Amino acid sequence: MRLLVVEDEKRIADFLCRGLQGAGYAVDAAATGAAALENIHSADYDLVILDLMLPDMDGLKVLEKVRNRKVGPPVLILSARGGLDDRVKGLEQGADDYLVKPFAFVELLARVRALLRRGQPALEKLQVADLTLDCIRRKVIRGAETIDLAPKEFGILEYMMRNRGRPLSRTMIVEHVWDMDYDGLTNIVDVYIRHLRSKIDDRFPQKLIQTVRGIGYMIEVPEKPAERPAEPVSERQV
Ligand code: CA
Repeated sequence: MRLLVVEDEKRIADFLCRGLQGAGYAVDAAATGAAALENIHSADYDLVILDLMLPDMDGLKVLEKVRNRKVGPPVLILSARGGLDDRVKGLEQGADDYLVKPFAFVELLARVRALLRRGQPALEKLQVADLTLDCIRRKVIRGAETIDLAPKEFGILEYMMRNRGRPLSRTMIVEHVWDMDYDGLTNIVDVYIRHLRSKIDDRFPQKLIQTVRGIGYMIEVPEKPAERPAEPVSERQV
C-alpha cells in the first residue's frame, strides 16, 4: 500500500510520514499542490492525504484535478478548516473523508485503514491455503503458527496475497512496498523473498511463494505440492 501525504507544514508532514511508515505503509510526501499532482500522475497511490491550505494552490483544486482523472485514489482531507461549509464542500468535491486538525494519530490511522479497505470489503483477511494474513491486526498465521514479519516483509506478502495467482514483477513489488526515496536495485526484492520463504514456506511441505521465470514472483497453491522452483539467480534483473 502506497500513500501520498500532501502537507506543507514540515513538522506535520514528518509526523504523518513516520507514523504511517511505522504502520507498514510506503509513504511519499509533497509540500505543494504542484508537487502533489506530479506525484499522482507518475505513481499509483492507494490513498492521498490532503491538506487544504497549500502555498501554491487550494487543496480543493488538487482534489478537483485528481477527480478529473478516470481512476483516482481515495482522498482524505486533513485540514484546520473545520467549519461545516468546508467539510461539505470537500466531500461534495469528491473527498472520501475529512479529518479536522488537530487530530489524534490513532484516529487518522483508523480512517486510513477504513478507506483502504473500502475498495476491498471482503479482504480484511487474506488466505492462501493454510496461510492467513490479517490486514487489520497485521498478523500472519500459517497452520497453527503465528509468524513474525518485518514491515517490508509484511507489505510484500500482503501485496502478493491481494494479487493471488498473478505474477508480479520486481518493479511492481518495489513500487508498491517502497516509497519514492528508494532508488536502489529491484533485486532487493529477491532478498526479501528469501526471508519470506524462510519464514512462511521452508518448514512447510507446500511452498506457496512461486518464482515466475522471466517475470518475478507469485503466491498460489502449487500444482505439485513438494516442489519449489529454483531461485532466479541467472535471470536478467530489471
Ligand atoms: Ca497547510
